[in-house]
Amino acid sequence: MTPSAEKLNCVIIGAGPAGYTAAVYAARANLKPVLFTGQEPGGQLMITTDVENYPGYPNGIMGPEMMEDFRKQAERFGTDIRYELISKVDFTGPVHKLWTESGQEIETDTVIIATGAKAKWLGLPSEERLLNKGVSACAVCDGFFFRGQEVAVVGGGDTAAEEATYLAKLCPKVHLLVRRDKMRASKIMQERVAKTENIIIHWNSETEEILGDQEVSGARIKNILTGETTILPVTGFFVAIGHQPNTQLFQNLLNMDEVGYLRTKPGSTKTNIEGVFASGDAQDNVYRQAVTAAGTGCMAALDAERYLVEKGII
Ligand code: NAP
Repeated sequence: MTPSAEKLNCVIIGAGPAGYTAAVYAARANLKPVLFTGQEPGGQLMITTDVENYPGYPNGIMGPEMMEDFRKQAERFGTDIRYELISKVDFTGPVHKLWTESGQEIETDTVIIATGAKAKWLGLPSEERLLNKGVSACAVCDGFFFRGQEVAVVGGGDTAAEEATYLAKLCPKVHLLVRRDKMRASKIMQERVAKTENIIIHWNSETEEILGDQEVSGARIKNILTGETTILPVTGFFVAIGHQPNTQLFQNLLNMDEVGYLRTKPGSTKTNIEGVFASGDAQDNVYRQAVTAAGTGCMAALDAERYLVEKGII
């Protein structure tokens, strides 16, 4: 062990629902977890307003407030929460090494990764300005607020197809904005979109601007072949052009798919490295919900505890 290194049993990287839930379980199991929050404590829920689908909050809750509750619960059982970024890891030895951005070296027997993912955005100033004021990257989270209203979904992949069909059950008209003359989505999803009468596909279309002052009141789109612009009278604008998992730190160390989602052994949170477990959106490109992230955070803590017991470490 490097003389200056701090020796720990369990390090959790990330402070969203997965990381905090892992912390609650690990702390209650006396693993003395240290949780590094990274640059965005709370994760994607910090940019969400009302959360109405998290069980246990019958009246709904604001995303940041829910994350505050998660943090307090993790702290209540003794989690050491550090507002620092892990900037380097080394998983080649029997003990895992991590370095904080300020240069502190840490050695730990188990690591729980809960670094989450980020939605990709179009990059328009109007999109940023109207985020949570009609602009969203999650139909399951926010679609309910737009029931009975006309909305748009951008994207041509499975996520966009799924979001459009989900919204079509709540909204009278859903405009699907596809930038090419074909969709990338699977055949079955494309068929589902085509069969849904209230989804209107706009091919070869890009968004020039999302309109509205305090909230979304429309979107100006342009047909890239004809140059024609159209204003859609939508009040909800859903961006569904993919997500990027926050896993760059683990590149070439852990198995991941081509996008960067960490691969885990089926039915567990085990990665290809012993003692390293992955939870939450960093390893989930299908469900991506706060409740599923929390569920896999719990699994990761239980897997870490079992690993420490099996190795005779605790
Ligand atoms: P994706 O497959 O990467 O598709 C992204 C879509 O957004 C593409 O159609 C892309 O257009 C479009 N796009 C990207 N940047 C854009 C921009 N700036 N403006 C307009 N359009 C833009 O992402 P995804 O749909 O999130 O799916 C990710 C993975 O998860 C896929 O493997 C998918 O199959 C999987 N998934 C599965 C399910 C399911 O099985 N139920 C559900 C959701 C996702 P181009 O095609 O022109 O590049």
